[in-house]
Amino acid sequence: MKILLTTLNSKFIHSNLAIKYLDAMIRDKVDSVVEEFTINEDIEDILSKIMIGGYDMVAFSCYIWNIERTMKIAENIKKISPETLILIGGPEVTYDAESTLQRHDFIDFIIAGEGEKALSDLVDIIKEPERFKEITNLYSRYSSEDMDFESRSLVVTDLSIIPPVYLDTKKEDIENKIVYYETSRGCTFSCSYCLSSTTKGVRFFDYERIKAELSHLVKLGARQVKFVDRTFNSDEKKAIEIISFLMEIDDGNINFHFEITAHLLQKPVLDLIKKARRGLFQFEIGVQSTNDETLNEVRRANKFEEVSKNVLEIKSYANIHQHLDLIAGLPYEGLTRFKKSFNDVFSLKPDALQLGFLKILKGSPIENTIEKHGYKYRSYPPYEVLSNKYMTYKDMDKLKTVENVLDRFYNTGRFKYSIEYLYDRVYENTGYNLFEDLAAVISDNNINTIKKEEEFRAMKILGMNRVSKENSNPDFNIDFFVELLRLDYINMGRNPNIPAFLTKKNEDETERELKEFIFEFTRNQENLIQLGFKEDVHYKDAYKKINWSIFEYDMVQYISEIRKPGVVNIKKEKNVLIVNYDSKKGHNGDYKMLRRLYEI
Ligand code: SF4
Repeated sequence: MKILLTTLNSKFIHSNLAIKYLDAMIRDKVDSVVEEFTINEDIEDILSKIMIGGYDMVAFSCYIWNIERTMKIAENIKKISPETLILIGGPEVTYDAESTLQRHDFIDFIIAGEGEKALSDLVDIIKEPERFKEITNLYSRYSSEDMDFESRSLVVTDLSIIPPVYLDTKKEDIENKIVYYETSRGCTFSCSYCLSSTTKGVRFFDYERIKAELSHLVKLGARQVKFVDRTFNSDEKKAIEIISFLMEIDDGNINFHFEITAHLLQKPVLDLIKKARRGLFQFEIGVQSTNDETLNEVRRANKFEEVSKNVLEIKSYANIHQHLDLIAGLPYEGLTRFKKSFNDVFSLKPDALQLGFLKILKGSPIENTIEKHGYKYRSYPPYEVLSNKYMTYKDMDKLKTVENVLDRFYNTGRFKYSIEYLYDRVYENTGYNLFEDLAAVISDNNINTIKKEEEFRAMKILGMNRVSKENSNPDFNIDFFVELLRLDYINMGRNPNIPAFLTKKNEDETERELKEFIFEFTRNQENLIQLGFKEDVHYKDAYKKINWSIFEYDMVQYISEIRKPGVVNIKKEKNVLIVNYDSKKGHNGDYKMLRRLYEI
C-alpha cells in the first residue's frame, strides 16, 4: 500500500512534525511518503504532484491556515481517482469530525486528536472495514453509525510507542528550516479559548530519546529548534534537565525557542538560564491581558505582577530574546482597558510583542460563552472575533492597524534604538499611543506595501511632530533621534545608500578626506581586530565589508549605556562611526562598531 502523508505549511521555512510521527509509525508496514507544500503554492501544481505519485491513500494534516485549500485538493483527488482513499486529521478537523465527514463525500476517514496510533491501526486493518470502529479516534465513512465518540480518548496515552523522528534526519532536510520538536504533550492549564485545555494532564517523551535527537540536530547544524510543548516549564525538574543539556551541546550558533509560563519560573531555572550564551534561548510568553477580571473569565492562571517580575529579571540577564503575547477581544476588555494591557506589557520592553485576536475555535470551551459575551466572529478560518459586548468592530479594526504597525516597526527590530528613545522620552507608559500615532502618520500609504525608506521617513515625521510648538518636549532631542534612525538604518545590513533625509550631505572635499581616513584606518591591523575581523584579514577585503558615517553624537557610548540601569547620557562629539558588516551575531544581534573622533 502506498500512502502519502502531506500538509500545506504556512511558509517555506516551517516544517510539519505531525506527519513525521505518522511516517515513523507506519513506514515498516507500508510504502509511506512524506511531502510538504506551502499555502502559497498553486493548488493545481500540488494536485498534479500528488496525482503523479499514484497513491492508494492520501493523508492531510489540517490546520486553520490550510483547511480551505486542503479540502479543494482532496476533493479533486477523489474526482480524478475515486479509488484513492482520503484521510484528514489535525486540530482543524478534530472537533467537528462527524459533520465534516457527512458534509464532504470525498473524505473516507478522519482521525480526531493525536493520530499516530489510529493511523498505525488503520493500516493494519484496512481490508477489514467492520473493525474500523475498534480504533478509538477514527471516523470512517464505513462504520461511523456504530460509534460512541464522546467517551473516547483523543490522545496517545503512552508516548513511548512513537518512534524518534530526527535520528535519521540529514543536513539537507533541515537546511533553511525551523525544526519543530516536542518533549511533552498536553497542558496543565485550562484557558477557555485554547484547544489544549480539552485534554487533561501532561505526558512526556523519554529523556534519553530527547537527548539523542537534539544532539543529532545540533550536529547537523540546525539553526533554530522550536519546542511545541504547550508549557515547556510545566515540570520544573524536567525543564532544568533539558535546558542544562541544551547548554552543554550548544554549538555557538543554534537557537532554541520555548513557550513558557513566566509565573512558574523559580530561582533554580532562573539561575541556570542566566548563564546561557546570548541568543541560545528565546522565550514566548503568553500574557494575553493584564486585567484580572478578564484572565479569571477565560480561566487563565497568570497574574501580571508575577509575570512582569520574571520578565524583567530575565531581561536583566541580556541573553534571552523574550516574545510576549497579548490577545484582543477577550471578555471585559474594551478598547480603553486593552490599551492598558498593551501599555503594561510594552513597558517591560520585550524584544517582540505579538498582538493576536481572539479566535472562537471549534471545540474550545469558550464556545459556551458566545452568548454571554456577545461574540460575533468569522464563521470561517481563522474564526477571529469581529466584535463582542466590550469592543466594537471599529475598535477591532483599529487594533488590526496598530498590530500591523507594531509588527513592522517594533517586532522586526528594525527601529530598535529609535523606538526605545522615542518611548523613553515621549511615550513612557503609553506605548500604545506611539504605534497609534505612527499609524496615523502613514495613513495615506498602504501599510502593507510601504517601503523601508518610507518607514524611516514616517518615523522621522513622528519625531518631528513631537517637537512642534504644540508638542514641545524638552527631553526629546530631534537631532539625536534622527541620528538614531540612521544608526537603525545602518544596522539593517549592508546598504551604502542611506536616505538623504537621515544624513547631512558632506562637502565633496569632506567625502574624499573621509574615504582616505577610512582607507588608512583599514591598513592598521589593530583597528581591524578591534572591529571584529580575524587577524589574517586582508585590508582590501575588510574595506569592502565596512560602512562609515559621520555622527554628531557618540552612539557607541549610548548603546553601551542603554543596556545598563539608570539615566542614559547623550554625549555630543563629532565622530566617524565604522561598522563591520561581517560581524553580526545571532538574529537580533548588533554589528561590531567603533567610533573615531572626527579629526580629518
Ligand atoms: S493557552 Fe497555553 S497555557 Fe492555556 S491551556 Fe492553552 S497551552 Fe495551556
